[in-house]
Amino acid sequence: SLQGTDLHLAFGPNQVLRGVDITVDAGKTTTVIGPSGSGKSTLLRVLNRLHEPHRGDIVVDGRSVLKDNPDELRQRIGMVFQHFNLFPHRTVAENIALGPRKLRGLSKDAARELAIKQLDAVGLAAKADSRPGNLSGGQQQRVAIARALAMEPQVMFFDEATSALDPELVKGVLALMADLASGGMSMIVVTHEMGFARTVSDNVVFMDHGTVIESGTPEKLFDAPESERLQQFLSQVL
Ligand code: ATP
Ligand code: MG
Repeated sequence: SLQGTDLHLAFGPNQVLRGVDITVDAGKTTTVIGPSGSGKSTLLRVLNRLHEPHRGDIVVDGRSVLKDNPDELRQRIGMVFQHFNLFPHRTVAENIALGPRKLRGLSKDAARELAIKQLDAVGLAAKADSRPGNLSGGQQQRVAIARALAMEPQVMFFDEATSALDPELVKGVLALMADLASGGMSMIVVTHEMGFARTVSDNVVFMDHGTVIESGTPEKLFDAPESERLQQFLSQVL
């Protein structure tokens, strides 16, 4: 499991995280919802130690990791963002093989083989030798997911992975994410897709202004929200 407890972070006077608790259990999916600016992306960056929390703890499998080298945690977490950031001048397979070669020390052939295997798993083996620019946005995002999976992460983080996609491409990427979840991947998913949050998550966290207003099962949050703030948010997005 990966757990953040009482996480605080400020940028100057701007208190962006004000005591956030979040947990993802092994093999489960935790979804983070909340209005723009509530601190969702910042929370993911603190959880993979791109920012160090000013207070609070990050606990992996029962052990605090804040004294470890941050790279250790980062390498166990696969990140997928709104913008896929694939290298345009390298092939799809090369994009995926790069991390395993540089960071996991795989040989060129082994990394290529792994890349093809991961591409196959996201339904894109036929595109191995294409350039990213020749793929649709949805296909590029699936390549970005394959690239993250090739590092064999313990947990996957998704930050609005479908927000930049044309509407007709969103479904395919959400379906892939749902497949990963049902296949036992541990995931933290920041999303505006309430259908996904409701049907795929084991746990939902609703954030506003850097705090968790409410968290629990999707049934509890969507069907019986307790706080006025969540009721109001849902009435705007559902
Ligand atoms: P959205 O739904 O629009 O993506 P969010 O919930 O992901 O919003 P964050 O991006 O985490 O929100 O931003 C939360 C607050 O932190 C905002 O007020 C933002 O301006 C501020 N912030 C985020 N990153 C930085 C940074 N690197 N430096 C200064 N302020 C930042
Ligand atoms: Mg964000």
